[in-house]
Amino acid sequence: MRSENIYRMFGVDERIAALVREEEDRLQEHFRKIDETAEYNQLKVIRAMQENGISGACMLETTGYGYDDFGRDRLEKVYADIFRTEDALVRSQIVCGTHALTVALFGNTRPGDEILSPVGMPYDTLQTVIGLSGARGSLKEYGVGFRSVELLPDGGFDFEGIRATINEKTRLVEIQRSRGYSARRTFSTAEIGELIRFIRTVKKDVIVMVDNCYGEFTETIEPSEVGADMVVGSLIKNPGGGIAPVGGYIAGTEECVGRAAARLTGPGLEKELGPSLGNNRLLYQGIFLSPTVTAGAVKGAMLAAAVYERLGYPAAPGSSDPRYDIIEAITLGSPEKIISFCRGVQRASAVDAFVAPEPSPMPGYDSDIIMANGSFISGSSIELSADGPLRDPYTVFFQGGITYPHSKLGVVMSCQQMLEDGFLEL
Ligand SMILES: *Cc1c(COP(=O)(O)O)cnc(C)c1O
Repeated sequence: MRSENIYRMFGVDERIAALVREEEDRLQEHFRKIDETAEYNQLKVIRAMQENGISGACMLETTGYGYDDFGRDRLEKVYADIFRTEDALVRSQIVCGTHALTVALFGNTRPGDEILSPVGMPYDTLQTVIGLSGARGSLKEYGVGFRSVELLPDGGFDFEGIRATINEKTRLVEIQRSRGYSARRTFSTAEIGELIRFIRTVKKDVIVMVDNCYGEFTETIEPSEVGADMVVGSLIKNPGGGIAPVGGYIAGTEECVGRAAARLTGPGLEKELGPSLGNNRLLYQGIFLSPTVTAGAVKGAMLAAAVYERLGYPAAPGSSDPRYDIIEAITLGSPEKIISFCRGVQRASAVDAFVAPEPSPMPGYDSDIIMANGSFISGSSIELSADGPLRDPYTVFFQGGITYPHSKLGVVMSCQQMLEDGFLEL
């Protein structure tokens, strides 16, 4: 049975099902390359698990202080091997990506230091952590400064601007790999490597931290292989594979990871403490599944780009551009269309499909946000999700899916809702 028939059960107009199928057929060559990346990364993960002697006993739980939790300790070695770093901190006590980045930044800066972002302003919640929105407990309150250098109009790095901004106080350079909610593009690991090499010619001993959120496993190498001292991310995005119920990671040099651990638990306690509770198995399964889950999300994002380009909306990255994260940004141009798109994605969810998302304020963000997120794990954005801040130019961000068919259904249902709301002409 052609799968178009089953889309009818979702109330999908036949013209939409056919259009999406046509675009999907055109992308097959790109999809094959994405599968090759997934294969490489899948074997990388399996090798890391084998080399660290992962056994059934690693899946057991610890409670309380979590002393001698060798399942947790070996999971951290697995992460260190995957990211080719000396050490890693992988914990369910880290609540989200912002928390992991907060721990890494507070752990690795001291009063009087400055943080530099050489790629423009960082992710919204990070701006709050740095102290740009006046929230209490920020780095600014602790006397840690911040500077950023905007990208050039063509999207390239402003090497001269960066050289001029680095000074004797610059202690840590933060490079955000993925675009997040911004209009800029996502950087490849090779570009990040070029930027790090340049920064080290200006200041050799600066700490380079990469915000790796959404980028993991989209390429066969990670930023920690091209000179970053730390890579940081969330387990309810790519590396959790849709299975990790919570968590974050910091992989990097022993020094950087140790200082972050001293901040997460306490000085002297560092990585010795922290019960895995019942999560070790889920975190192992998550990292094991992550390469193929990430590949499904990348394919879904590419399909969204192809379909919306054909419908006349600018999509970034474009459908034939290389991809270094799982996010697709589609500029719809009005708040009503963003709401319609997100409602369509919500209708494609396995959980909470009957809910209609509404724009609302979110902690850490400056404008109202609408989020379609009918996920198994609350807020998980490796699962099918779409969100957008309600601000000009009204760009919606589409990501995730756990499986490619689910991501595809998200694209189909977004079109269906837009059609029903009178925003599509076919
Ligand atoms: C998601 C994300 C974060 C962290 O967000 P959380 O919601 O706290 O996990 C940070 N930086 C980027 C680029 C992100 O995409």
